Amino acid sequence: MKNHNLTIYNSLSREKETFTPLHPERVGMYVCGPTVYGDGHLGHARPAITFDIVYRYLTHLGYKVRYVRNITDVGHLEHDADEGEDKIAKKARLEQLEPMEVVQFYLNRYHHAMEALNVLPPSIEPHASGHIIEQIEYIKKILDSGFAYVSEGSVYFDVPKFNAERGYGRLSGRNIDELLATTRALDGQHEKHNPSDFALWKKAAPEHIMHWPSPWSEGFPGWHLECSTMSEKYLGEKFDIHGGGMDLKFPHHECEIAQSVAHNDHDTVHYWMHNNMITINGKKMGKSLGNFITLDEFFTGNHPLLEQAYSPMTIRFFILQAHYRGTVDFSNEALQGAQKALERMLDGYRRLQQLKPSAESTVDVSKLEERCYAALDDDFNTPVLIAELFEACRIINQVNDGNAKASQADIDTLRHIMDTFLLEILGIVPEGTAGANLKPYEEAVDLLLDIRNNAKKNKDWATSDQIRDRLKEIGFDVKDTKDGFEWSLK
Ligand code: ZN
Repeated sequence: MKNHNLTIYNSLSREKETFTPLHPERVGMYVCGPTVYGDGHLGHARPAITFDIVYRYLTHLGYKVRYVRNITDVGHLEHDADEGEDKIAKKARLEQLEPMEVVQFYLNRYHHAMEALNVLPPSIEPHASGHIIEQIEYIKKILDSGFAYVSEGSVYFDVPKFNAERGYGRLSGRNIDELLATTRALDGQHEKHNPSDFALWKKAAPEHIMHWPSPWSEGFPGWHLECSTMSEKYLGEKFDIHGGGMDLKFPHHECEIAQSVAHNDHDTVHYWMHNNMITINGKKMGKSLGNFITLDEFFTGNHPLLEQAYSPMTIRFFILQAHYRGTVDFSNEALQGAQKALERMLDGYRRLQQLKPSAESTVDVSKLEERCYAALDDDFNTPVLIAELFEACRIINQVNDGNAKASQADIDTLRHIMDTFLLEILGIVPEGTAGANLKPYEEAVDLLLDIRNNAKKNKDWATSDQIRDRLKEIGFDVKDTKDGFEWSLK
């Protein structure tokens, strides 16, 4: 284990705390994953990348990290309360699919986007629908504790009672009296004793197609319950880190805390971590605002708000240029800036591979590694780390341009720093379209089209057509011009 003084901002204490895991070598981390019908949109990228850095860094420090990220695939009325039907069920009905087919479709898309962003898969990815039995057992124990009640086939958590005895609202800082005054009673929720009570189990309406048997009714578990249940199942009654987006603090994580305390009589989570949100051109993302852009649309540029395609590495680098607790505003201008910055970084990385050592040294790289670690130890400060890596690039460029001399030892240190921090921990992949050297590929296409021109001159139409058709299939747009040809990628 590397001896580091890692500090983490704990959303519960609202302070930076020295990271002390419950076990000296193992770390348990739970992150609220996507609700699968979320279309793999941009909002999914930030928590995934934020906790990917946490996962990568803790692993780098030598911890054995068990990283659990759930899949919310049980239909929830809460998500679409206005329409009165959960989204998975609705899509399944409209498209005549099994609900699990809908879930798998979105999950595949999500995984594909995460892989493109070089987000490492978690150790366990449990589905809420695969843990109904555990959730029912969990509810039974909360009922035994007296903090829940059964009403017309549903089970509700008694928020005012819990607040009086154990305190509710510690994470979000919400005042329960205020909350009671502002929570309006929704239609059909007359069975609740108090408007602020939340469902642990909901009796399914006849049109609700995702439902399971339980001692109380044929129904489905409440959304907050899956995270309390599955985190405990895989990480134990006490574990180190629980993460998610800031929008989940209330009510989701507040309810998780209440459930866990009611169930175990103590807190389960040591460090609560929350990433800040993403805006687009200064506005919150939302379907009704027309700025709800999926990751695939970013990768292809296929959206009216996008001036061009942005590679997954550009998106990843852009997100990492901000601290995870700060906001990130997506705009074409900002992304183009990130793309250029990434190209500069990768240019430095490539030059480093070809740098020639000198017998003497005029550069000082001795403190660089220490400063990179200091940045990460300060609550995963990736923008400061990136600034240090640009400092490394500045030195590389000086040596490359003949304005400074680096010894073999200097070059080895620089390579170690770039490989460790840029590739291993920030997870930037040097290959790919972002800043990659595409020249040899371009020349290969030119060569093929030259061969085709010769074939045409020799009236070898078969070869000429074969080359044109194959290039088109691969994805090139080939145009014949009066002097020869023009090509582009479609
Ligand atoms: Zn959750």
